[in-house]
Amino acid sequence: MGKIRFAPSPTGYLHQGHLLSALYVFAAAKKWNLKVHLRIEDHDKRRSKKEYIQSIFEDLDYFGFQFSSHSIQSEREEFYQNAYQILLEKKLLYPCTCSRKVLKEENPISKTGEVIYLGKCRQNTNTTLPHAVRVKIPDEPIKWVDAAMGCFEENPYQTSGDFTIKDRDGFWTYQFAVSVDDIVENITHVVRGRDIFHSTPKQIALSRLLKDDFKEPLYYHHPLIIDNCGKKLSKREHSHSLRMDLTQYGSKEALIGQVLYKIGLQDHANPLSLDQGIAKIASIL
Ligand code: GLU
Ligand code: ZN
Repeated sequence: MGKIRFAPSPTGYLHQGHLLSALYVFAAAKKWNLKVHLRIEDHDKRRSKKEYIQSIFEDLDYFGFQFSSHSIQSEREEFYQNAYQILLEKKLLYPCTCSRKVLKEENPISKTGEVIYLGKCRQNTNTTLPHAVRVKIPDEPIKWVDAAMGCFEENPYQTSGDFTIKDRDGFWTYQFAVSVDDIVENITHVVRGRDIFHSTPKQIALSRLLKDDFKEPLYYHHPLIIDNCGKKLSKREHSHSLRMDLTQYGSKEALIGQVLYKIGLQDHANPLSLDQGIAKIASIL
């Protein structure tokens, strides 16, 4: 039996975007008969809070989502250390002492607003100065299929360059932690929002360095809920939490109905039970 994951970051309360993602994940699990794993992505210890971890468990439980297992990244240090060791032994890591300012000034910026790191520190071995750790990414195209969006080809060396796996404060980066977890937790299906679509080739490239016989999961990047100003919902913009929305909409069914309405899966914002919401999405996968 395959396994899918829902992987929120505890940097705020869950919002409608998370509810939509969770519905997609459970719809995929229903359609493809998968176990569902809950992963708390608290690799960024500056922004993650215990209080939000607690609220994630409570909110998902309140909506009726049932997971077969869960993990919390901050409790899994050994797995990241092991993976780090693999890359170290393959001589694929190097310390990058470039400051944010230098990174911006000396490197091109991609269409998605990221620095394309040109490899200034590739030969650097000095770890006495503050530094991030970067991984040498092969200069080769990655081909992959997204079950929602089609076939893609991208060379992450060209579009991102060597990216960081540990930041200057010593925290594992999202790309690293998620790649390690998807391997170690035997994830066979990755269903998540389109905002993360561009991370896919980086994660495939890194996973291939971590595991010789890496088999890509099935990827499906779902559409996002757009706010009234045409921007995607984000915790950072203080969009409403599900907790706040519940007081406005009155019930979880109303909120599930609202979310499906917003992405065009029903013509009116009729209330839907969790099972109805999941079934409606499963029917379009
Ligand atoms: N933790 C990420 C988020 O909350 C999701 C990562 C993923 O699904 O790969 O946006
Ligand atoms: Zn550098």
